[in-house]
Amino acid sequence: MILQKLKKFILISAPDKYKEEFRRENFEINLARGKTISKVYIIMEIIMLLMSIIDMGNQVFKVHNMSYTVMYGLMIISMIVFLNVFQKVENNKIKSTKMMRTLEITFLVFLVLWGAGISIIDQLHYGQVIVYIAGIIFIAVAVYLEPIFVLIIYIFVHTVFIVGLFYVQKCNNILFGNIINSSSVLVISWYISRMLFKNRVKEFSNRKIIEQQNKELERLSYTDALTGIYNRYKFDEVLENAWEESLVQKKPVSMILLDIDSFKQYNDNYGHQAGDESLKEVAKVISQYSKKIEAIASRYGGEEFAIILPNTNREEVYLFAEEIRKKIEALAISHEYSTVSKYITVSLGTNTVIPCGKLSIKNFIYAADKALYQAKGKKRNNVVSIG
Ligand code: GH3
Ligand code: MG
Ligand code: MG
Repeated sequence: MILQKLKKFILISAPDKYKEEFRRENFEINLARGKTISKVYIIMEIIMLLMSIIDMGNQVFKVHNMSYTVMYGLMIISMIVFLNVFQKVENNKIKSTKMMRTLEITFLVFLVLWGAGISIIDQLHYGQVIVYIAGIIFIAVAVYLEPIFVLIIYIFVHTVFIVGLFYVQKCNNILFGNIINSSSVLVISWYISRMLFKNRVKEFSNRKIIEQQNKELERLSYTDALTGIYNRYKFDEVLENAWEESLVQKKPVSMILLDIDSFKQYNDNYGHQAGDESLKEVAKVISQYSKKIEAIASRYGGEEFAIILPNTNREEVYLFAEEIRKKIEALAISHEYSTVSKYITVSLGTNTVIPCGKLSIKNFIYAADKALYQAKGKKRNNVVSIG
C-alpha cells in the first residue's frame, strides 16, 4: 500500500500512447536550454579563468588556487564538447529515447558533480556549499526530467559529495551544517522538480485532449451525418484546392454529379427510413470506389452526390462514372416504383476542364449539373459527359 503510493508519487509520466511524443518534446526543450546553459557557462568560466590566471601572477584577488583554475578549464572544455554534441543532435535528430536520456543525464550529472567539486575545494577556504546547492537547484528548474531520474542523479551525486565533504572538511560543526543544509536543499529541489514535471504532464495532456477534440470537431464539420462521407462544405474546399492545383499544373480536373433516380417514389413507397438506408448503401459504393482512384466523394445534398477527380480527363471520368453506375445497379436494391429499373439506379453528369483565368468554379459545377440534367432527360440510369 505505502509502496504503491510511493511509486505513484515518484513515477509520473504522460499517458502511455503519448509517452514517446512527450519524451521527444521535453528533450527538444532540454536541448535548447542545454545549449544556452553551455554558452553561459563558457562565458562565465572564461571570466573566472582569466581572473584566476591574473591572480596567479600577482595575487590581486588573493584567492588563487590551482584547483580552481583546473576546474574552470575543465568546465570550459566540457561545455564546448557538450555544445557541439547538442548541435549535432539537433541537426541529426536522434531517435532513440535511451540516447536522449543518456545525454540529458550525463550533462546534468556533470554540472552538479562540477559544482560538488568546487564546493569541496571551497571547504579548504570558506567552508561553503553554495556552488553545489546552485547546481542542485538548477537541475530542478532548468530541465524537464522524470522525477525518478532526477532522484537517481541526486542520490548518486549527493553520495559522492558527502564522501568528499567527510574527506576534506575537518571541522565537525561545518561538516554537519553543510550536510544538513545541502541535504535539505536536495529534498526541496527534488520536490520542486517533481512539481514542475507534474505540471508539464498536465499541460501536455490537456493540450492533447484539446487537439483531439479539435480534430474530432474538424472531422464532424466535414462529415455528412447520415452517410458518413464528406459533406458539401468539404466538397467546396476540396474543389477549390483541386482547381488551384490544376490551374498551376495546367492539368484537367473532372467532377461527377450523381443523383438517385425516382427517389421520391422510393421514399413515398418504402418509407423515409428505408430511403436513408439506401442512401447509405449508395454512398458506401461511391466512397469506396472513389478512394481507389484518389477521387474525393461527398454528399452534395439530398440524394445527390459529387465526386472530384483531380488530374483526370474526360474519357477517364466517363469510364469511372459508368463503373459507379453499374456498381450501384449491381447492389440490386429493390425499387418496384422506379420509372427506370426494378432496382435503385443513378444518373450521372460529368464535366472536365483545364482551369484557366477565364473559367470559374461556379460554371464548372453548373455545367456538371447540366450534364446530369441531360442524363435525367435521356432515360436516367446513364452517364452524360461534357467538357
Ligand atoms: P429523379 O429521378 O428526377 O431524380 O427523381 P427523384 O424522385 O429522385 O427526384 P426528386 O428531387 O423529386 O426527389 C428527391 C427525393 O429525395 C425527395 C426526398 O424525399 C428524397 N431525399 C432527400 N434527402 C433525403 C434523405 O436524407 N433521406 C431520405 N430518405 N430521402 C431523402
Ligand atoms: Mg435530386
Ligand atoms: Mg433523384
